[in-house]
Amino acid sequence: MKTVIVPVSGGKDSQVVLALASLTGQPIVCVHQNTGWDHPLTYKHIQLMECFYGVKIEHTVNKWGGMLPWLKTSAYFPNSAARGCTQRLKQEPFAKWLLEKGYNADNCEIWFGMRSDESAARNDKYGGITMEDDFTLGDISRFYNEGKRKHLGLIPVKLPVVEWSTDDVFNFLRISNAPLNELYNKGHTRVGCYPCFLARKAEWVACGKDPVGVKHLSDLIELEEEWSARPHKLKFIKVHRTWDVRNFIDPNVNPDDIPEDEHGCGWCSI
Ligand code: SF4
Repeated sequence: MKTVIVPVSGGKDSQVVLALASLTGQPIVCVHQNTGWDHPLTYKHIQLMECFYGVKIEHTVNKWGGMLPWLKTSAYFPNSAARGCTQRLKQEPFAKWLLEKGYNADNCEIWFGMRSDESAARNDKYGGITMEDDFTLGDISRFYNEGKRKHLGLIPVKLPVVEWSTDDVFNFLRISNAPLNELYNKGHTRVGCYPCFLARKAEWVACGKDPVGVKHLSDLIELEEEWSARPHKLKFIKVHRTWDVRNFIDPNVNPDDIPEDEHGCGWCSI
């Protein structure tokens, strides 16, 4: 019997996938792709999920020590044109984890929590796909088809909630009496990097109202100022290509006066 690997973000969608996987009777292994940039409430929720579903949730380890150290090394802020954070902090550590555990196409399958109605980007990629459709990890991202990790690209993938709406997901968790990440009660609709550089304005606004978010934004602003002071300017040294993110933590700025980012949400592919 194949092991079902469930990458768990700490958000609602992968939580439902974990619940569905636990109904199969197959062995389950959960893993959090840990960027070190999640909200503490997300780490707390992951522990609650371990108790509620009776599973151990492992954490990948990135060699950079988390988002901030990686930013300092890479010397640019991620954006839709250069999103190294996904590869360096999520994909590479996940591939390493799979390789170290000896997982391959013969002994496991991976169940992801992507939904096509999450965002325009997700709909472009997954719209029209059903939960019965077969994928491989290499179909999800070409990253897994390369070099020493090439065989990982053949691991079968399922997307059990790809056709679910947001209401479907919340209703399922409510009916199951399952715990919910508290960030949803703080105005967030997405859970993950806090903030994700590609997130919608509403996520940045909510982040700027949270003490952890204020600390994270202040750290980013400090980096922006350090890089801006350098005599030789690098590319992508603004925290966000559209906004001055200081506005999100300035009590004198009305969030309604901050324009939407016309590019919308790209979000992480895995
Ligand atoms: S969620 Fe956003 S910030 Fe985090 S790794 Fe993905 S693209 Fe980068």
